Amino acid sequence: MASDNASFKRDVAEARRLGIMGGTFDPIHYGHLVTAEVARVKFHLDVVVFVPSGVPPHKHGVEISPGRDRYMMTVLATATNPHFEVSRIEMDRPGPSYTVDTISEFRTRCRPGTQLFFITGADAAVEILTWKDAQELLRMCAFIVATRPGYCTTRLEAELERARAVSTHGIFVVEVPALAISSTDIRARVRQGDPIRYLLPESVENYIRKAGLYL
Ligand code: NAP
Repeated sequence: MASDNASFKRDVAEARRLGIMGGTFDPIHYGHLVTAEVARVKFHLDVVVFVPSGVPPHKHGVEISPGRDRYMMTVLATATNPHFEVSRIEMDRPGPSYTVDTISEFRTRCRPGTQLFFITGADAAVEILTWKDAQELLRMCAFIVATRPGYCTTRLEAELERARAVSTHGIFVVEVPALAISSTDIRARVRQGDPIRYLLPESVENYIRKAGLYL
């Protein structure tokens, strides 16, 4: 993607139903790509914009790869899907990457009436009521929450039920078998010298090797 402004002028700004795929993407893998594609088809989204977190708000003291590497890997991974875009919105905004700020920015840049769907993982979404300005956020967009196979949904459903009492656009849970793949596992595999082929796009694996990530 050339720049945020360029892509906003094109497909993103014109979308009527827009997916916003939030995550750290350290690294992005096929689980994320399948999640975005499943959400796109199931919820009739015109475009899914991947938004790598700049400074993840809840990861104080946790080591993450530089934003430019996570952004580059996301661009490489999504390049072959014409319905996928990548945004630097959180990379370029100083301070913690609060979702409410991101959704507000999309809201002002998209055409009036555009329906926004924030897509993310269950372990993040289960804490949604603790996110910055959660009540306001739940009234700004719908949520698509992706679970891994075998994920125990008891606590998730209880938390989402509380969130649904506030939400005006809906909160949907989707099980994604490909989310058996995890970034944590990929980082550990690289560190241990185990193969990561077929867990993520080859272009992303090449980037990881060249940049010396996760060693
Ligand atoms: P995380 O804790 O790194 O990930 C939580 C779990 O969800 C992990 O199992 C992760 O798997 C999975 N996951 C993350 N993003 C996913 C996606 N887009 N699709 C499918 N699975 C996904 O969470 P995070 O990445 O930092 O946060 C997720 C999103 O929530 C980000 O956009 C973040 O900014 C937002 N968030 C906002 C606030 C706030 O506004 N206060 C607070 C917390 C999170 P992998 O490790 O394999 O990715």
